[in-house]
Amino acid sequence: MEGIKVNALMLRSADYGDNDKILTLLTAERGKLSAGIKGVKKAGAKLKFAAQPFCFAEYILAKRGERYTVTQASETESFYDIRTDINKFYAASAVCEAADCLTFGSPDDAAIFTLAAQALSNICNSDECLSLIKFLLAALSAAGYTLGLDSCGECGSHLTSAPKMRFDMNTGSFTCWDCGTGYGTGGATYNVLRMCAGRTYEPEFITADGRKRALRLLREYFAYKTDSRCTGLSEYIRLL
Ligand SMILES: [Zn+2]
Repeated sequence: MEGIKVNALMLRSADYGDNDKILTLLTAERGKLSAGIKGVKKAGAKLKFAAQPFCFAEYILAKRGERYTVTQASETESFYDIRTDINKFYAASAVCEAADCLTFGSPDDAAIFTLAAQALSNICNSDECLSLIKFLLAALSAAGYTLGLDSCGECGSHLTSAPKMRFDMNTGSFTCWDCGTGYGTGGATYNVLRMCAGRTYEPEFITADGRKRALRLLREYFAYKTDSRCTGLSEYIRLL
């Protein structure tokens, strides 16, 4: 039986039988797939690490029919700090959950794989909140749900200095307060999102509260577009 080598992130695992697990792996080469892994619940199992959350590794898979089984794995990056810091842990959980919801087992998944691996590294090594916002913006965009951060979608006015504005869930764009009928939001949210998207922004609007509001807006938009609730993201927002 030939082994297939993939670079993958372990997104999710489910118990299978007494000692085995089924892993959901997001791979660079074959998109998202499920693979069994044997004996990993036994003490001292050699591949235990490969079934842990946030494992980023090179996995060797055996394929029989349509089923994959992990036969070997070697860790690429350990993201150790994610396991020792509760805020980083939940931010990383939100990345894995969102990556899972936005991938469907097609070659397009590779873009989300790259963004998720980069996001875990950024969460580990820098500000986890900004890293998470950047990831959600980029991953939503890669999945076809780009959040529009241009001027008002109706009249074209610049919004960076507007204290109040609206966000339209359908179009994913912002409008002046009086131009639209969307969800009420403000300059703090808009400017934090612009900053994280690498656009110009008004520094006086950048606050800790603005980051939290930006994450709440992203959570609602994500749920609206994907019909799924990201519980890791809610836990993270609660911690802020
Ligand atoms: Zn307007």
